[in-house]
Amino acid sequence: MAKLPASLETLTEQFGPHLNREPYGGWQGRGEPEKLVKTHCCFCGQGCGIQLKVRGNRIIGFEPWEEFPFNRGKLCPKGVKRYMQDNHPDRLLHPLKRADGVGFVPIQWEEAYATTVREMRRIQAAHGPDSVAVLSGVSLSNEKSYLVGKFARMAVGTKELDYNGRLCMVSAGAGNKKAFGVDRAANSWADIVDADVILCAGTNVAECSPITTDYIWRARDRGAKLIMVDPRVTPLARTCDLHLPVRPGADSALFNGMLRVLIEGGMVNREFVAEHTSGWDETEKAALEMPLAEVARITGVREEDIVRAATMWGQAKTSFLLHARGIEHHTKGVDNVLTCINLVLATGRIGRKGCGYGTITGQGNGQGGREHGHKCDQLPGNRDIENPEHRAYIAKVWGCEPEDLPVKGHPAGEIMEMIHRGEIKGLISICFNPLVSLPDSNFTREALGKLEHYTAIDFFLNETAHHADVVLAGSLHEEEEGTVTSAEGRVNRIRAAVDPPGDAKCDTEIILELARRFGRGKYFDHFHDSEDIFNELRVASHGGTADYYGITYERIEKELGVFWPCPEIGHPGTPRLFEDLKFSTNDGKAHFNPVRYRPSAEEPDNEYPVILTTGRVVSQYLSGSQTRRIGGLVDLCPEPFIEIHPTLAEGHGIVTGDPVLVESRRGRLIVKAKVVTTIRPDTVFIPYHWAGDQSANLLTVRAYDPVSKIPEFKKACVRISKATEPR
Ligand code: SF4
Repeated sequence: MAKLPASLETLTEQFGPHLNREPYGGWQGRGEPEKLVKTHCCFCGQGCGIQLKVRGNRIIGFEPWEEFPFNRGKLCPKGVKRYMQDNHPDRLLHPLKRADGVGFVPIQWEEAYATTVREMRRIQAAHGPDSVAVLSGVSLSNEKSYLVGKFARMAVGTKELDYNGRLCMVSAGAGNKKAFGVDRAANSWADIVDADVILCAGTNVAECSPITTDYIWRARDRGAKLIMVDPRVTPLARTCDLHLPVRPGADSALFNGMLRVLIEGGMVNREFVAEHTSGWDETEKAALEMPLAEVARITGVREEDIVRAATMWGQAKTSFLLHARGIEHHTKGVDNVLTCINLVLATGRIGRKGCGYGTITGQGNGQGGREHGHKCDQLPGNRDIENPEHRAYIAKVWGCEPEDLPVKGHPAGEIMEMIHRGEIKGLISICFNPLVSLPDSNFTREALGKLEHYTAIDFFLNETAHHADVVLAGSLHEEEEGTVTSAEGRVNRIRAAVDPPGDAKCDTEIILELARRFGRGKYFDHFHDSEDIFNELRVASHGGTADYYGITYERIEKELGVFWPCPEIGHPGTPRLFEDLKFSTNDGKAHFNPVRYRPSAEEPDNEYPVILTTGRVVSQYLSGSQTRRIGGLVDLCPEPFIEIHPTLAEGHGIVTGDPVLVESRRGRLIVKAKVVTTIRPDTVFIPYHWAGDQSANLLTVRAYDPVSKIPEFKKACVRISKATEPR
């Protein structure tokens, strides 16, 4: 073990005054801004435009950006407070290493890089190239997503690369590709406003994607009807025309039931189906197999409400269907998505004004992050790593042979299982906090303890990074140039407003330096800035379904975002897909997919009789590593809670404010009760943004969709009781 510096004074001498945690002179930087930087919110996939106030190389506040067309100056609480993370005292200012019995100590970059590369090479020499994994996040820009994919495959040389979009967008992505051959919302959000009926499935719009609420309200002002499908009466559902309180895990049965009503009521657009789709006959057969009474029994939704919803949807002239994690976070996530898409296709309302379909991206770059090749089965441009033509194309762009590209690896959840089994022994992560975000966190903690070496790149020491051997102090959104792609498919420009503080470095610089030290500089040395990376990404994506070739930094700024696909210079971009009713599938048609309902991984029984579903609150973002550090957001929701229906609460003698012991087959948790009438009596809800003994993922189940490999966050079985210990 390296000799430790004797005292804080020595450390300060060695590393400068940053160790005193006042790198910016506290808040002396406040005052009038020296400049305003137009960029985008770093949190959810809406990609709201925002202006950051900068003074003395620090961010001191924000201004709305009224001209940016998506949000026109509107922001949610997270967007309003996001600037506060920049000056946060928890910000990592130096690389760190774990020292036995001491915790983390600062080290020089030379030691941090050298240790990482030496340890990974040692592990790979002993156990093979795939014994090291790379896990990344989709809050990263498009450039970093692309770079991480190339880094893992061409520098580390492992096939074991995946990303935390695996916990977010993959069911939607797989469903989109099956049905349409392309993974993107079919329309820009502008079409929501012109819809006569809006169906929102499994999406707490007002809290998770707040600016989308504005589009729905504008449609409502025109008289649009709103149908909400959710086990909870979420804030937007409180204003809707029809709420379908579906039992968690029963979504595909519900949508099949609605399709049945469309079929039996003569509301299917037979002409569209015949000319522009395939797979209808088998889909119709599957929908007609289950009687409506059975659908009502499985879903817990009244038969007459299913008929009413289907009739509203079926008779509409224009419509928009939106869904999110509520239907996607299941072992049937892809099935649920496909049954939604079947409803859209059956009515033929797609590809024209006011008619569309979209999946609401969760993470900051949840759309772009799933296109550029840091998924285990994907190459840039949303290409398939197992397709020989796709491999040959990317090999040419990268200047290697197709055989040099690793084959398909494993998704994030399986990578953690492989770490637990000892098959993967080294890990490099960037902006991913799996200890909080993966299901069954006790299992994840055990797995992390088995790694021989773990290097984490991040800007805060998140809970997973606590298990690292080396931590590389990386950069925030506002410290690097780049692009992100919003839920609509709009490619936006993010701007570097300030430099990383202390000795922290830009993520790009860290990855490029590691690539060189892995001896693979020849594949990376031509990158001098983010635009160089973007320009290679454009070429790498060309001809793929996510084609960015015609998009340039200059155009994005001038046009306030460009929608992909944009395959040529001068192409206007594509806010609305499928206007020519040509789809990106092998036969050019949209594909119906038959779905038959099947049970979830866990169903309630005598031992664990209550369904747990998890989700977000408006003031927190994902694993909370950023938002749990911002006081104004913490004040809005300082800790997790459990929502319980009065009937269920009364049976256990629980009232609001009581500590509730929640137990599953994986773990236990004590949280305070919120007794509410806005949830099904057989279901409880806990938000998942907290860590340690406050983590909802202590309870969730390690079960995955067979196609998308998304975990079943939205249904686990638990028992509840009034806790004798306080929370
Ligand atoms: Fe907009 Fe999402 Fe940021 Fe809120 S969190 S301001 S909705 S991008």
